[in-house]
Amino acid sequence: MVPRVQKVQISRRAVLAGAAAVVVAFDPVNIGWLTAADATPGIRVPGLDGELLLDDASRTAVAEDYGQIVHRKPLAVLRPGSTRDIQKIVRFANEHGLEVAMRGQGHSTYGQSQAAGVVIDSSTLSTIRRVTRTYAVVDAGVQWLDLIRTTLAAGLTPPVATDYLGLSIGGTLSVGGVGGASSHHGLLVDNVLALEVVTGRGELVRCSPTVRPDLFHAVLGGLGQFAVITRATVRLIPAATTARVYHLTYPDLGSYLAAQRTAVTDGRFSYLEGQAVPAADGWSYLLEGVEYYTPPAAPDDDGLLSGLAPAGVEITEMPYFDWLNRIYDLVQQLMALKLPGPWINLFIPDESVEQYASTVLANTTPEDAGGVVLLYPVRRELIHQPFVRLPSSPVVFLMAILRAVSPPDEAATRRLIGINREQYDQAVAVGGTQYPVNAIPLTPADWRRHYGPQWQAFRTAKRRYDPKQVLTPGQGIFE
Ligand SMILES: Cc1cc2nc3c(=O)[nH]c(=O)nc-3n(C[C@H](O)[C@H](O)[C@H](O)COP(=O)(O)OP(=O)(O)OC[C@H]3O[C@@H](n4cnc5c(N)ncnc54)[C@H](O)[C@@H]3O)c2cc1C
Repeated sequence: MVPRVQKVQISRRAVLAGAAAVVVAFDPVNIGWLTAADATPGIRVPGLDGELLLDDASRTAVAEDYGQIVHRKPLAVLRPGSTRDIQKIVRFANEHGLEVAMRGQGHSTYGQSQAAGVVIDSSTLSTIRRVTRTYAVVDAGVQWLDLIRTTLAAGLTPPVATDYLGLSIGGTLSVGGVGGASSHHGLLVDNVLALEVVTGRGELVRCSPTVRPDLFHAVLGGLGQFAVITRATVRLIPAATTARVYHLTYPDLGSYLAAQRTAVTDGRFSYLEGQAVPAADGWSYLLEGVEYYTPPAAPDDDGLLSGLAPAGVEITEMPYFDWLNRIYDLVQQLMALKLPGPWINLFIPDESVEQYASTVLANTTPEDAGGVVLLYPVRRELIHQPFVRLPSSPVVFLMAILRAVSPPDEAATRRLIGINREQYDQAVAVGGTQYPVNAIPLTPADWRRHYGPQWQAFRTAKRRYDPKQVLTPGQGIFE
């Protein structure tokens, strides 16, 4: 007798939840899911503490990201109820040739958190487990916003924050995490003390600089290639209460870069960023220095501004948290518009930045830039994780064109992605690297070049920890 096999209607929500589960199976021939009683020829899906969602709405929700450019609907979405669920699904994927990607807040711009097989929605891993005087232990799906709110209640803060706090711990630790305090503390990944991960083989491993250090260093900035981060121990330092913000304006790139070099080298500000701003006759420049302090202590305005020679100065003040969270509402409004966001983020060595930035900006209209062009320095010696690729100059500039196509237009988006590719090639030619949160079409050969002397180590770690290349296909690194 031929067993009767009935496909689960894809519009129906099938839930696997431990003993109460509707048991379904996977049909590897037709690549689909099977209902309980009729699943004899199918492969049993393991029982889960959480849910495996098969309905169209759940799968569509993770088929896009912040960039609104790549759309890939997975076969299923796992909302893990435990780390064990992630292990089970990763092992299942290994056995049956499925791809898996962890999704944090989906703020990638080019499909990096998408997969055709199973997307794991990390937002259910959302517990802040412990806050001590020097570190916090936190689930990978927690947003920085929630962690910082919690640590500030104890007078503590992570040393570095990204400009936008609605990003997940796991998603940012997978790419690096740069912000205005990176000029003092390196990247987010330089401020992690330990990790709990599920490797691409489905093994649960705790690692740190002294326990399984090769895995620890591979995963930080490893673009999700070796393991799923499930929990992180992140460093905390005492927090100031107040941010005094110095906005210094410059009419030309040369004087702006000179001021940035002075400020990053002597480390006078707690936070240092800056940007190119559209002006009537091209671009002007804004250095953004911030001093964190707790009254009655007060910043020395004259000392902080000495030698920076700005054309204009504006000083404002606000609570520390308000400063860190200043763009949250704006980003929420932008996201509601679903504008394509073909971003390009590059690290340019100090010695090339003036020539590179002036050429790029001369050929960039404010419309093509989407309004925001970040251009600020970090100190290379503070950035340590091997798979975060930066030029070797002592000072390196982040140049990020955060494009938004308004109104949405496919041809315009494609044109900007083409420009991204050209600008990336020009950056590489002057010793630059990409900060990999971009919409740049890259081939595996480009990635080999990106990793350069670290490529062998990167490939070895992939073979060791994810030999079947189950994890994070959306990065497009391997053939
Ligand atoms: C508005 C906005 C502001 C930003 N500001 C900054 C900034 O100031 N500084 C900065 O450095 N970056 C910034 N970024 C970029 C951002 O840090 C990255 O895009 C980051 O990856 C997004 O985090 P996410 O939680 O949305 O991750 P996702 O986009 O969901 O995932 C990113 C990648 O990491 C993988 N991943 C996610 N979670 C895990 C996990 N737990 N384990 C293993 N792999 C995982 C995914 O599969 C994917 O490949 C910004 C992005 C946006 C949209």
